[in-house]
Amino acid sequence: VSRELRHLTTLDDARRILWQALPARIREGRYAGRDTPIAEAVGFALDEDVVCPTDLPPFDRSTMDGYAVQAGDTFGASEGLPAYLKVIGEVRMGEAPAFNLSERQAAAIPTGGMLPPGADAVVMIEHIQPWGGDLSASLQAGSIEVLRPVAPGDNIVHQGDDVRAGEVLLSAGPRLRPQDISALAGLGIATVRIRRPRVAVLSTGFELVAPDQPLAPGQIRDMNGPALRAAARAAGAEPVNLGLVSDDPEAIRAALCTGLAEADIVLVSGGTSVGTEDVIHDIISSLGKPGVLVHGLAVKPGKPVVIGLVNEVPVFGLPGHPTSCLVMFRELVSALLRVAAGSEPQTSLPVRARLTRNYPSQAGREELVPVRVEKRDGAWEATPLLGPSAFISTLVAADGLVRVPFAAEGLHEGDEVEVEPFDCAQDRPFASAQGRPFE
Ligand code: AMP
Ligand code: MG
Repeated sequence: VSRELRHLTTLDDARRILWQALPARIREGRYAGRDTPIAEAVGFALDEDVVCPTDLPPFDRSTMDGYAVQAGDTFGASEGLPAYLKVIGEVRMGEAPAFNLSERQAAAIPTGGMLPPGADAVVMIEHIQPWGGDLSASLQAGSIEVLRPVAPGDNIVHQGDDVRAGEVLLSAGPRLRPQDISALAGLGIATVRIRRPRVAVLSTGFELVAPDQPLAPGQIRDMNGPALRAAARAAGAEPVNLGLVSDDPEAIRAALCTGLAEADIVLVSGGTSVGTEDVIHDIISSLGKPGVLVHGLAVKPGKPVVIGLVNEVPVFGLPGHPTSCLVMFRELVSALLRVAAGSEPQTSLPVRARLTRNYPSQAGREELVPVRVEKRDGAWEATPLLGPSAFISTLVAADGLVRVPFAAEGLHEGDEVEVEPFDCAQDRPFASAQGRPFE
């Protein structure tokens, strides 16, 4: 069946149509929870509230190197009139002290050491002097001089001051940050349940061979499969590899059925434009309701995109050209995967830059132009990278995308533009300018 892409939908409309058709579970990012070791859970949304099983710290601790004391013994102490205390022992790290502290006694204690029973404050080492000003004499006599008073509670943290048992430390929804992982570890929680969508990826085309296979004349290596699985992973999903199939409707149908059964979102690249081998539209429609929602976008690159929903599972037919394929992943799928509970999909924070040359464009479609970004004389400059959308090297050389709006006839040299950085660009100098933390 051949049909011309006569009616093109704008990217914004396509997103809106998809968003409205999506089940609430996906709109709110409520994917099936998976138990995950905490160090691997960073960046994922928690699927459950985390209630503290224990107090943190689990015992009263010193926050200073010094001497544990009874604060009352130090009241009125000064350089001229020190308080004299008898040293009865030393607290060791990682051990409970084997003694109780009574009046007029002190015990050496390191930062983080467990406060001995009877003590209620710690005097910093700086406010202590050996008895008679001589350390060895002091040690023999087993006494110290306290030069400043402390109040009860000074220089200690009490059990449960940081986090109390029974408190909800983290609630379901937001993504885990390294500091959240730290708190979980401190509380002895080694695994957490996270929401991690599964994204199935299929490549289609007679001409395709796997990247590790020899190439016969006329064949092309499958770039979209690995690229989409990598992009899904970078966006926080777990990729499911459906491999590659030729442009055979039955083979595509079978592979998509597997994807629908195993994944939350299904991606298929190739075979989406109008031609004899372009069957994705019909297959999606035949697999379940409501079927195809959008076919054909008023955007460059990305015109032949198909967006469907099959029994509540979104299916994206992405263009075969590797650059178009990835740019459309970014515009449609990545935003969906990153959706935080209840909020609309968002792309990464843009950086403002000045355009270094004119970029002509056709009105009536949105354009996503790859740009390289460099700093010159303290200001960011964006240079459009020109090249056929079939060239992956263009995208490799780029730092991000600049949008030419639907109605615009291009951009002019000197225009201030917003550059949307690519995913995983954190360690590139340009991307660090987003929040400008290093400037
Ligand atoms: P199609 O969308 O199937 O018409 O493909 C458009 C172009 O993208 C053709 O030149 C294909 O050979 C190429 N192409 C399709 N799928 C892939 C893929 N997985 N990896 C690399 N190139 C592809
Ligand atoms: Mg093809």
